Amino acid sequence: VKDDVQMQWKVERGLVVNTGHTIQINLPGHSTTMIGGQNYALKQFHIHTPSEHQVSGLSYPMEVHFVHATSDGKLAVFGVFVEIGAASEEFGKIMPFMPASTASSPTETSPLNLAAMLPRDMSMFRYRGSLTTPPCSEGVLWSVLSSPIEMSTEQVTAFRRLFSANARPVQPMGPRAFEGPAPRLAH
Ligand SMILES: [Zn+2]
Repeated sequence: VKDDVQMQWKVERGLVVNTGHTIQINLPGHSTTMIGGQNYALKQFHIHTPSEHQVSGLSYPMEVHFVHATSDGKLAVFGVFVEIGAASEEFGKIMPFMPASTASSPTETSPLNLAAMLPRDMSMFRYRGSLTTPPCSEGVLWSVLSSPIEMSTEQVTAFRRLFSANARPVQPMGPRAFEGPAPRLAH
């Protein structure tokens, strides 16, 4: 974790919603992240395939966006890459219950250990950009984690059955303005 990040992520039940753009898991907002002295509540996370960020020109199969907001609406997002590997126990509580369409009722998850959805190595790089799913808000503080998490082929396939491709055109990591050293993301 960067020096300026302090996380208090809890075990929470989520509400799994099909937004028409993605599967989004809405949270009660009890989990918080302090970034640079600003306190953000974790509001939701959602999934893109393939990844929206690239590393050395390569996409990952999926990318999860953990979206935080301050009480006055400032947004901060953690982008977490997904690679194929072992099944994720926590995402296993979501994948079987994804509503098939926007008309389907949202489903509540069993308790999710949110911190267990992140990689052990929390190295991250940061830039200011916009939110990739509607509404596109400017001024989002992005933190992209260098280490991916793993999901099984079956878990990725389950998502892709609903959304075969829902990433916006790739955001190359090169020319953006980063805080701190340039990303070292040899894949
Ligand atoms: Zn997103």
